[in-house]
Amino acid sequence: MRSHYCGGINESHIDETVTLCGWVHRRRDHGGVIFLDLRDRDGIAQVVFDPDTPDSFAQADRVRNEYVIQITGRVRRRPEGTENDHMATGQIEVLGKELTILNESATPPFPLDEYTEAGEDVRLRHRYVDLRRPEMAQRLRFRSRVTSYLRNFLDGEGFMDVETPVLTRATPEGARDYLVPSRTHAGSFFALPQSPQLFKQLLMVSGIDRYYQIAKCFRDEDLRADRQPEFTQVDVEASFVTEEDIMNAMERMVRNLFSDLLGVNLPEFPRLPYAEAIRRFGSDKPDLRIPLELVDVEDLVQNVDFKVFSGPAKDRKGRVAALRVPGGSELTRKQIDDYTEFVGIYGAKGLAYIKLNDRSAGIEGLQSPIVKFLGEEATMAIMDRVEAADGDLVFFGADKASVVDEALGALRVRLGHDLGMVEGEWAPCWVVDFPMFEEDDDGKLHALHHPFTAPVSAEELQNNPAGALSRAYDMVLNGTELGGGSIRIHDEATQNVVFNSLGIGKEEAREKFGFLLDALRFGAPPHGGLAFGLDRLVMLMTGAGSIRDVIPFPKTQNATCLMTDAPGEVDEKQLRELHIRLRRSAKSDQDDSN
Ligand code: ASP
Repeated sequence: MRSHYCGGINESHIDETVTLCGWVHRRRDHGGVIFLDLRDRDGIAQVVFDPDTPDSFAQADRVRNEYVIQITGRVRRRPEGTENDHMATGQIEVLGKELTILNESATPPFPLDEYTEAGEDVRLRHRYVDLRRPEMAQRLRFRSRVTSYLRNFLDGEGFMDVETPVLTRATPEGARDYLVPSRTHAGSFFALPQSPQLFKQLLMVSGIDRYYQIAKCFRDEDLRADRQPEFTQVDVEASFVTEEDIMNAMERMVRNLFSDLLGVNLPEFPRLPYAEAIRRFGSDKPDLRIPLELVDVEDLVQNVDFKVFSGPAKDRKGRVAALRVPGGSELTRKQIDDYTEFVGIYGAKGLAYIKLNDRSAGIEGLQSPIVKFLGEEATMAIMDRVEAADGDLVFFGADKASVVDEALGALRVRLGHDLGMVEGEWAPCWVVDFPMFEEDDDGKLHALHHPFTAPVSAEELQNNPAGALSRAYDMVLNGTELGGGSIRIHDEATQNVVFNSLGIGKEEAREKFGFLLDALRFGAPPHGGLAFGLDRLVMLMTGAGSIRDVIPFPKTQNATCLMTDAPGEVDEKQLRELHIRLRRSAKSDQDDSN
């Protein structure tokens, strides 16, 4: 139906007759001449109709924004002074001869011809219109370039694209499963995979040796942060490899991706042990562009009268840390109140601080609600330890270690942005030496990655599981976890020790993971891998504000699709076929939980 894309015509087409199809982006009537900006996925071309061609002129007069039209006309240079250097097609226009209206359009739910901040709800409800916006279309196109680049890279390195099932058994990655009732097996359910983890490991047992897949993963989580119930991973696994092999290959892949698609040379990827990352940045995905660090001070406050500090300082699971903010004494009371509220989100009960106005004046030179409780000695020792200078402010976190880590870790990032301290554009790193497990408040162990991750030492795993390190690694960029993986357990005995540490008894392990345990007995090679979150990667690369902006049809924060209205009710007959009777009407269930 067309000879060119709108965005594809330029000065080389002058005097050619072209046929274009697309949407009317904007229509302007300039006293006797009608200008239509015609848009397709490649860009916008200006088409001019004048009364010399009365039929098409009349049609052009009739079209409105977002009408779908086909035009034929001759490409010509724009009259001098009317060129638009901001447009790829800005030097030319098409003198329209014919215009066919292919379809009309109702008034769009939000204007596309000018920059407007349409509410996200209305954008999601009419996503097909939203995706017409050039910035959204560009992001989808970029995403497609990323996936095709990664496929090429992996194909070139001998990785094989293999699909794994979506209807499967639970794959524990720490979230709730989405379940699918079986019609043919009353009372039984499939689970949608939280990741292809177990299948890719089984493919290694099969001798596939190098696998990848751009795979949909499903996790029924409370969508606090910028998460989606279904998201995409670039999933990779290889046999006969060490951590170094995987990390080097993946680092090369990401480095090449950034340089070839963005022209960005990523700096070195430093390796940070998990414990150091938590100690210095309060996070296992530190944003290394921000030059602020947490400093432990519990040894200095163990014996002060101030219980808020001495309590956590004496507690094995507590932490007292300081965060020095250079020049921070300029912060106003109101700003400090806002930060106090902010750390409250992470469970911190308050945010103590000391402003250092004049160091030479000793304790008199400090301004703080807590110094009188802390005492001079401890206070000055802290000031020394954090190397505070005049004009600095020191924030404190004192609580359970996890609360301090999260609160000060997040505050550090927020301050870095608020105070313009972000250094450099890209700061990647690897976080390594993760513990195998984390302990909850009841002393129960949970896998930090997933239960298939190999320990550094089988002995340590046996004797001191809570302290055992794993062979896991995460790739982090600008404070975002881009991907994570590990070398896996490839023998049944070690796998059983891990299950045991997690409180998964023999019977349960057999019932849930019997197929894996069996496979490990039939010649499983050493293997390992990693998975990247494609949505996050594309979000970072395009500078989008949310992963929703790089997913064509995302769900809302509470896991619904505003466009299709999913999830929806199903009729009684379908339920009966699935052997399901609702306990109460879903509606009253929801009313109860509200
Ligand atoms: N399956 C893991 C995940 O989804 C990635 C991996 O260990 O390769 O995080």
